[in-house]
Amino acid sequence: LDTEAVRIIHDEDEHLAHNYEPLPVVVATGEGVWVTDVEGKRYLDLLSAYSALNFGHRHPDLVKAAVDQIGRLTLTSRAFHNDQLGAFATALAQLCGKDLVLPMNTGAEAVETGIKTARAWAYRVKGVPADAATIIVAKGNFHGRTTTIVGFSDDATARDGFGPFTPGFISVPYGDAAAIEAAIDENTAAVLIEPIQGEAGVIIPPAGYLRAVRELCTKNNVLMVADEIQSGLGRTGTTFACDREDVVPDLYLLGKALGGGILPVSAVAGDRDVLGVFAPGEHGSTFGGNPVAAAVGLRVVQLLQTGEFQKRAATLGEHLKTRLDELIGHGVTEVRAAGLWAGVDIEPALGTGREIALKLLARGVLVKDTHGQTIRIAPPLTIRATELDWAIEQLKLVLEG
Ligand code: PLP
Repeated sequence: LDTEAVRIIHDEDEHLAHNYEPLPVVVATGEGVWVTDVEGKRYLDLLSAYSALNFGHRHPDLVKAAVDQIGRLTLTSRAFHNDQLGAFATALAQLCGKDLVLPMNTGAEAVETGIKTARAWAYRVKGVPADAATIIVAKGNFHGRTTTIVGFSDDATARDGFGPFTPGFISVPYGDAAAIEAAIDENTAAVLIEPIQGEAGVIIPPAGYLRAVRELCTKNNVLMVADEIQSGLGRTGTTFACDREDVVPDLYLLGKALGGGILPVSAVAGDRDVLGVFAPGEHGSTFGGNPVAAAVGLRVVQLLQTGEFQKRAATLGEHLKTRLDELIGHGVTEVRAAGLWAGVDIEPALGTGREIALKLLARGVLVKDTHGQTIRIAPPLTIRATELDWAIEQLKLVLEG
């Protein structure tokens, strides 16, 4: 590392809370699937900021939407209307096939909004007695970092030492519809799941799981809430990961790529009979639905309306899976992939996921490890097959030592 990078990392070490452990690269610029560090060295970004950069770094249409809007109006708060939010809400609702959306900023806020929606719906529509509503969640979940959300995580690192936690959550094994059925009772407000568990290592549930959850929810008058914050907006080869089983949840939770990799934009989408539960004053956010977010978010929805990115993720995803499967038995023990999203388990004898990520970094490829032995691959959906091949070649070389 050159002295500038060392200095920057040192400053961070001295003055930043140590809630992350970044790989030692200091990125200065980005374009498309490539970033450049302070030394001028280029890296292929195979993480996409955990799927927030589905359209790549600085997609020209998205940058234009942001810059144009910053030149006009940046914030009103929702004390007043702004001339961007209505168009964004209309387009996003249409993309989701829902009546309404509720804009927030971060993913965790969308999840919190989903939880509040489900509880309010349970009391006001379903008739659950006050404070008795429960929400069924899945083991291995990752829905964000607020105290309520980490309270129903089973990851000790995320949870331990941050209690006491919000009651009302029941955790059942992921991928097991019968476990959900057994956990449902008359006070169940919702089932909250990731259609594919991202942080857990791209865990794909058995075929038919999402459909079974949908049917159980419908039969028992329970809301199906799909956290598509990481899985949605083209990543898996369809607009939503739920589309893979032709399932429509009652609420979509969206974030990450909704802000085009430019600013935090999240939202909940649902029909009027569910998301219509809120009355003025019951929920909000100073920056939620701000005009810059709305302008960028609208452009994101328009990019997705073309279907081009979903198609790329599907086609290139097949290619990615084929190439990664070739590494099984050659340093890789398992590959789980959906569209341009893969969890690759590394043979423990070759090192941890982080050690492999560090070796890939040295070869100009950015990935992130998760849960010890897994590396996660989630390139921008704009990546070319040749770039993907080059990155996989680097992984192969790292595994060969
Ligand atoms: N839900 C899922 C499925 C996620 O993957 C994440 C982030 O990784 C979140 C929620 C939280 O999003 P944010 O970090 O924007 O709060």
